[in-house]
Amino acid sequence: MSDRIYNFNAGPGTLPLEVLQKAQSELLNYKNSGMSVMEISHRSKDYEEINDRAMALFKELMGLDDSYKVMFMGGGASSQFAIIPMNFLSSDKTAVYIDTGEWSGRAIKEAKKFGTVDLAGFSGDKNYNAIPAIDSLNIPDSAEYLHLTSNNTIFGTQWQSFPKTNLPLFCDMSSDILSRQLDFSMFDLFYAGSQKNLGPAGVTVIIARDSLLKNCNSNLPVIFDYNTHASKNSLYNTPPVFSIYMVKLVLEWINERGGLKTIEKENAAKKDCIYGLMDDHADFYRGTAQKDSRSWMNITMRLPSEDLESKFIAEAKAAGFGGLKGHRSVDGVRVSLYNAMPLAGAEKLAEFMLEFKKVN
Ligand SMILES: *Cc1c(COP(=O)(O)O)cnc(C)c1O
Repeated sequence: MSDRIYNFNAGPGTLPLEVLQKAQSELLNYKNSGMSVMEISHRSKDYEEINDRAMALFKELMGLDDSYKVMFMGGGASSQFAIIPMNFLSSDKTAVYIDTGEWSGRAIKEAKKFGTVDLAGFSGDKNYNAIPAIDSLNIPDSAEYLHLTSNNTIFGTQWQSFPKTNLPLFCDMSSDILSRQLDFSMFDLFYAGSQKNLGPAGVTVIIARDSLLKNCNSNLPVIFDYNTHASKNSLYNTPPVFSIYMVKLVLEWINERGGLKTIEKENAAKKDCIYGLMDDHADFYRGTAQKDSRSWMNITMRLPSEDLESKFIAEAKAAGFGGLKGHRSVDGVRVSLYNAMPLAGAEKLAEFMLEFKKVN
């Protein structure tokens, strides 16, 4: 596999080689059906097995019981920015959001179209370089829900612990789902687009407390009503079959490695490798996130000049390290270390960074 690079893209992200190989081996003839998984009926027994197994694996890996429902929808995480308030807000209701970056900002913008939005925290005054301190948050006693973004993909910050609240806690986990051990039962609803830590783009997973779904607004378009998907096992209409199949393979891969305990250990070693190098050479690799808010998934930094940044990205690419350009809204360099990035990738990149600094 010497022609595969270390892919540090923020999204779509790198996938485990073992998963790609498994998909390749099954591509033309899935389980003796004589068809690929993209061609089988979503009402077939073969697909139902994939669907059910993927849902069960999410709950197993997260330690969630049957009081939670796993749903698969299309439209990406961005569509959930609208579908959440569509289900839980209205002009006479209030939701509370914490604004820690671009994606939270987009979620807030959509929610405002449906009801009142209060901000419990905001880090835009500090260029989104930190997560607000939990004791600085202004969380009211009553509202429909509190929404936050666990990992800020663009700004490289991540919640290290979560606020305790009596409000239903909602979370966009698109860029760090299944990357660490968490008490997932503190969340009442959380969701993620698939293309960062779960598989290829095309499916969004929504995990919600069953008891919450009775609070959904009535008279919604059927396709946007969470109860439609919850009650039909996400088979109301044709799901993105291939994406869900790939997500299932990724979940099995995580499971076989020992679940979130192992994944967390590996992710810790990977981020220590890159942050360690940055801290030793902080005059050259300047991290943009405050240390107590650093993301394990997306490491953002600036080099001494934009010319050096371009040179770094180009030379890294030539050396087999792809996807290191920062998001177009913030520039700089971004190293994304999703679950599928092996430790060797982070180690080799750190060596490259050391050498690049020496030469430049
Ligand atoms: C990438 C990303 C999104 C947007 O996901 P789409 O699937 O492209 O809509 C939303 N939230 C976060 C935190 C992300 O990283």
